[in-house]
Amino acid sequence: MQDALTGLDRYEAFLGKLEKELENIGDDRIAITYTDIKHFKYINDTYGYQVGDALLKDFVDAITTNNKTMLCAARVYSDNFVVANRVNSKYTNEGYRDIILRLNQEREIKFREKYLNSRLQFCTGISIIDKNSKDLDAETAVSNANLARKVAKELENDCCVLFNQSMMEGIKREVEITSCVPKAIANKEFQVYYQPKIETDTLHVIGAEALVRWQKPDGKFIYPDEFIPFIERSGQIVDVDYYVYRQVFQFIAKRLKEGRKVVPISLNVSRVHLGKMHILEYVKELFEEFKIPVSLIEFELTESIYLDNTEKALELINGLHKIGTKVSMDDFGSGYSSLNLLSRLPIDIIKLDKVFLKDDNLQENDKIIISCVVDMAKRLQITSLCEGVETSEQSAYLKEVGCQIQQGYYFSRPIPQDMFEKFMDEND
Ligand code: C2E
Ligand code: CA
Ligand code: CA
Repeated sequence: MQDALTGLDRYEAFLGKLEKELENIGDDRIAITYTDIKHFKYINDTYGYQVGDALLKDFVDAITTNNKTMLCAARVYSDNFVVANRVNSKYTNEGYRDIILRLNQEREIKFREKYLNSRLQFCTGISIIDKNSKDLDAETAVSNANLARKVAKELENDCCVLFNQSMMEGIKREVEITSCVPKAIANKEFQVYYQPKIETDTLHVIGAEALVRWQKPDGKFIYPDEFIPFIERSGQIVDVDYYVYRQVFQFIAKRLKEGRKVVPISLNVSRVHLGKMHILEYVKELFEEFKIPVSLIEFELTESIYLDNTEKALELINGLHKIGTKVSMDDFGSGYSSLNLLSRLPIDIIKLDKVFLKDDNLQENDKIIISCVVDMAKRLQITSLCEGVETSEQSAYLKEVGCQIQQGYYFSRPIPQDMFEKFMDEND
């Protein structure tokens, strides 16, 4: 049973062979390497399937020719390959990983040249089995290697990762978290906290950012940095965001009804919305339902959204502008910012990331960058806000360079709604 394109075993046949090898492992070690090709789709889309097929055949040649320790190999599907090798006793597991990484890098150089794609990359996960783990069945061994590959794929460089048990813990946590989300929404376990934004010149609260918190029934909090990456992968972030947005609209409507002070609240927009774009409809519905002025809601899109997909991001900003809300570029400076983006995108506010304030006393270099970004924003008529302000020195410097708005623990941590109401009333 062979794969017609590559001549390798079919995956089922591979599993059968691997099972036998595992039974007779003795004192040997067997490495399962699971590889896929980053940006393979681009080759198919740009040069057609014939070229894509040729690349896959070339790759199979590369991994099988002169591979004296190979036990069996298969194409799992598309551009996903799995190979089992006996590991020479002179290598440690880490040493074996280094060899695979070096081979991948050598192949990348050749393939990038031949297939005219400078980003083409091989991502490999490796699980190494010895007599202590020989009871593992073949399928689990492959799935461990595949899990390590997924971890590798998140990396920028050196996309070659050895499986370890803690990866299983991560997956367990992910499943645990994502399976609880629907019930958590129904049980109102998500809460909205507000972090005030302070006007540099007057020290007045002139806005706040809504930040989600998840309080489990046992009272413990799970913080966004832990659960958001998981629920972005599962797509559930859309429901959580919508829940947060509704709470915020409700809050503003309540304050307006009571005739008390209100300030614009900014809402975070996950990258996941870009794929769907229901967000514009949903926001319009909220404005219709709660009848609050559009000036009281703003949206924060992270810098990385723009870099991932500038076209879609532009479509979303234009849609939000059409509704009448302001849009800010969040986390500016945290990744590979392009200053170019600032002039190309019609954003209203730029939020300088807290990385610029990593020290209590600002470093000379960071000072220069902050003042340049603030200056540039001013010339482009974009409001500048700096987040993560923790000390009076930092705050004073931001005033000196003309950064209009500040946000950070120095003024207030994110706080629950009732505390934020008090904060606003006292500040008034
Ligand atoms: P972010 O949008 O950059 O939010 C600012 C984060 O910095 C918040 O973390 C905030 O608590 C923290 N922070 C504020 N001031 C300071 C400071 O002075 N020093 C330090 N060290 N940190 C400060 P948080 O609330 O844990 O949120 C983390 C991230 O999770 C947010 O980063 C945002 O990307 C995401 N997030 C939070 N709530 C939501 C939400 O409702 N929807 C979506 N899509 N993402 C959210
Ligand atoms: Ca934000
Ligand atoms: Ca931010």
